[in-house]
Amino acid sequence: MNLKIYNTLTRKKEAFIPIKPDEIKLYVCGITPYDYAHLGHGRVYVIFDLLYRLLKFMGKQVKYVRNFTDIDDKLIKKAVEQFNDESRYQEIANQFIAAYLEDMAQLNCLNPDEQPKVTENIPEIIDFIQGLIDKGNAYIANGDVYYAVRSFSDYGKLSKRDIDDLQSVERVQLNELKEDPLDFALWKSTKEGTFWQAPWGWGRPGWHIECSALARKFLGDHIDIHAGGMDLIFPHHENEIAQSEGLLGPNFANYWMHNAFIQINKEKMSKSLGNFFTLRQIFEQYDPMVIRFYLLSQKYDNPLEFTFKDLQDAKKTYRRLCNVFAEVDCDHYGFSKLPVMGVRSSREAKTDSGTKDLIEYPLIQKLLEPLLDDLNTPKMLSVLHDNISLLQESPEELCAVKEFMTVVLGLPLELIPEEKVAITPEIAKLIKERENARTQKDWARADAIRDELAALGFDDKDTKIS
Ligand SMILES: [Zn+2]
Repeated sequence: MNLKIYNTLTRKKEAFIPIKPDEIKLYVCGITPYDYAHLGHGRVYVIFDLLYRLLKFMGKQVKYVRNFTDIDDKLIKKAVEQFNDESRYQEIANQFIAAYLEDMAQLNCLNPDEQPKVTENIPEIIDFIQGLIDKGNAYIANGDVYYAVRSFSDYGKLSKRDIDDLQSVERVQLNELKEDPLDFALWKSTKEGTFWQAPWGWGRPGWHIECSALARKFLGDHIDIHAGGMDLIFPHHENEIAQSEGLLGPNFANYWMHNAFIQINKEKMSKSLGNFFTLRQIFEQYDPMVIRFYLLSQKYDNPLEFTFKDLQDAKKTYRRLCNVFAEVDCDHYGFSKLPVMGVRSSREAKTDSGTKDLIEYPLIQKLLEPLLDDLNTPKMLSVLHDNISLLQESPEELCAVKEFMTVVLGLPLELIPEEKVAITPEIAKLIKERENARTQKDWARADAIRDELAALGFDDKDTKIS
C-alpha cells in the first residue's frame, strides 16, 4: 500500500506495516463532553477521518475506535454548577455528545466503528486495574489506586522524557498517598455508595486507564495506529503505554500519530486559554465544507495559525474548485454508484467490469502519492491545482477526481450556498461606511473597512446585498 507515517514513537517517517495485512486497528482519543467542540477538535477529527477514509480507499478493513470520557472532574464540576448535584454529570455529557456528533456530521467525518463511553465500560476498566495490581504495576492506597511508574522500565519512551528529570518537575504536586510523586491515579476513591464499586472500594476511574481498557476491549491487546492531538503525548499517551504494556506486554501500538495545534497569535487554541471559536460559532458564518477544506489545507503536523483572513481565502479557493466540478454532469460515469464510503478494494474492482476503478486514472495516482506520504494534504491540493486546466478537458477524469475528493478527502465539491453571514448592526454599519468611502473615492479607507469586515467573517465582495 506504500503508506508512510511519521511515528512519534521512533521520531521517524516509516513505512506502515499493519499487524494483519487486511485488518487495521485504529484508536483515536475522543473528547470529554463538557462543552461544545472548538476548531482545534475539528482539526484532530478531520485529520484522522482522512486517515480512516484513505485506509478504506486502499481496500483495507479498518476498525476505528474513538472514546467518550463521559465521567471526569470537569463534568462533575459542571453538574454541581448547573444542578447543584454531582450525580447529574451524565446529563451534561449526553447533551455535549449529541452536539459533538452533530458537529462531526457537519464536517463530514465518518462515524468510527465504535464510540464507547467510559461509563458503559466500567467492569472492563476495573478488570484492567485489577490486572495491574496483580502484576505489581499498581497499588491501592486508601481506596485510590495508583500506577507505580517506576515498575515500568520503558516509561518515557514516547515523549522521550527521562524519568529522573520528571521526578523534579512532579515534586510540586505532592500527594501523600502516592509512593512516588510520578505515580498517577487509575482509580479515585469516592464516598461509599457513589459512582462504582470496585473490589478495593467505591470510586471512579482516573482519566488515562479508559483508553487502555477500551482499546483492549474493542481492538485487542495490540493495535496498529494510536492517534490524537500533540498535547496528549505526555502524560496521557505515555501513561496509556505504561498501563497497556505493563499488563499485556510490549508493542501496545505500533504507530503513534499526533497532529499539531491550531494557534491564535502563536498560542494554542484551547478552552483553558479562552482563545477559541467553537465549531458552531464558525458554522454560523462558514459552510462546514469550507472549514474542512481549510483544516486540510495545512499538513497535520504543522501548527495551523488561525486567521479569519485565511479562512476567507480558503472559502474562495474552495468555491473556485466547486465551480470547476459543477460544470460537468458526472452521473453517467457510474462513480456515484460506489458505496457511500466510496471505497472499493482493487479486488472488488476487478470483479466489477462495469466501472473503471478510480485508482486506474493517472491523476488519481498522482493525488494519492502525497496523501500516502504521511497525509501531505497541501501537496495533494497543489497537484490538483496544477492539473485543473488539463482536467477540464476530460470530463471523465474530472468526474473521477470529484469522486476521489468526495470519498477520500470528504469534500464533495458541491456548490456551497451564498454567504451565510448574518448581517449584524456592526456589519451593516461597516458596509454603509465602506459605501461612503467608495463614493468619496477614499480607496484606502474602503480597503481598511473591507479587512475589518473580513475579520468579522464577512466578505464584501462575494455578498449580494439586496
Ligand atoms: Zn486516550
